[in-house]
Amino acid sequence: MSPSQTETVLVTGASGFIAGYVIEELLRHGYTVRGTVRDVARTEKTTHLTALAAQLGGRLEFVAARLDTDEGWADAVAGCTFVLHTASPNPPAIPRDEDEVIRPAVDGTLRVLRAASASGTVRRLVLTSSSLTVNAGRNEPKDGWHTEDDWSLPEACTPYAKSKLLAERAAWTFLDDLPEDRRLDLVAVIPGLVLGPLQRPEVSTSTVVVQRLLNRSMPAVPNIGWSIVDVRDIAVAHRLAMESPKAPGNRYLCGGTYTGMRDMAHVLAAEFAPQGFHVPTLRLPYPAMWLAARFDPALRVALDFVGRERLSSQKAIDELGWTSRSSAEILRDTGQSLIDHGLVHSRHK
Ligand code: NAP
Repeated sequence: MSPSQTETVLVTGASGFIAGYVIEELLRHGYTVRGTVRDVARTEKTTHLTALAAQLGGRLEFVAARLDTDEGWADAVAGCTFVLHTASPNPPAIPRDEDEVIRPAVDGTLRVLRAASASGTVRRLVLTSSSLTVNAGRNEPKDGWHTEDDWSLPEACTPYAKSKLLAERAAWTFLDDLPEDRRLDLVAVIPGLVLGPLQRPEVSTSTVVVQRLLNRSMPAVPNIGWSIVDVRDIAVAHRLAMESPKAPGNRYLCGGTYTGMRDMAHVLAAEFAPQGFHVPTLRLPYPAMWLAARFDPALRVALDFVGRERLSSQKAIDELGWTSRSSAEILRDTGQSLIDHGLVHSRHK
């Protein structure tokens, strides 16, 4: 029996896009996994994981816990060695009241940390942060590259970016204030824009970008870009952050390759035009994009990324041995998955 088979890992937000692949990665490596969901009765969000665990002969259970209440967290962490905290609101549009996302993100992170540090068994918590904790707020990166030393400026963040920034800040402060007898290790994994195949037929907030291109939901493409990273590689990053002796106390940017939206469009057009997808590749001028964003909530979220999204993943590569697949492969796999799940519409039908 490998050491991992005696260890239980709690994954919060098990119904999420990233969490699903994190759970798969852990099961494939022999860990016993407990996932939190808001409501265990809503099995449509988790049956694919139950089936996967059965197929792999892995041990997986679900328990109820919500970010906005203490109820359930002590039981959720009981007996776990590790906690991978991925749960956080990831809304498709900017909420009217920023507290709708900030409160669950910050208070929820502290709830999970309090329960983990009181458990007596949890040794390490890996927090899923976001590149928006690093690059939002127009602070210019050193040498053109953002690193883990950079922190976003809260006053210039959108509510979602602020929720992630304040949650990660709160986690590090919580750790600093912990008494010696309740210490645990903290590691932050900081993804760029996470794309990749979907495990179930529901578009995640981030894969909407590819869905909109394939569905030609816009006539032209704004001059923006992202450091795109594959969900399967982000899952590996979480496991490495959990296992690596070098990781405690560190933040790890996992950004993948910066890819302009027009370059994304060209990859998708080349791959999927034969299947009847007419992907827009013309450039949308910035003023037109700004105007369109006034009426299009998703575009307003995208505007947050204009011109400042170059992330260095060098530390994760050097210290964790992390690798990331190419943007072209990520985009082709995301597109094919959207087609396979019937989430985009071909002109051939
Ligand atoms: P997702 O699919 O929306 O997953 C979010 C998870 O959090 C879901 O399981 C959701 O549960 C849960 N959740 C939200 N509010 C909750 C609450 N009040 N109580 C309990 N659970 C709650 O998003 P994702 O893309 O996988 O993101 C996962 C994590 O990665 C988040 O922390 C996000 O900020 C971070 N991240 C994502 C990206 C990206 O591009 N996708 C990039 C950087 C960082 P329900 O299913 O019940 O709603």
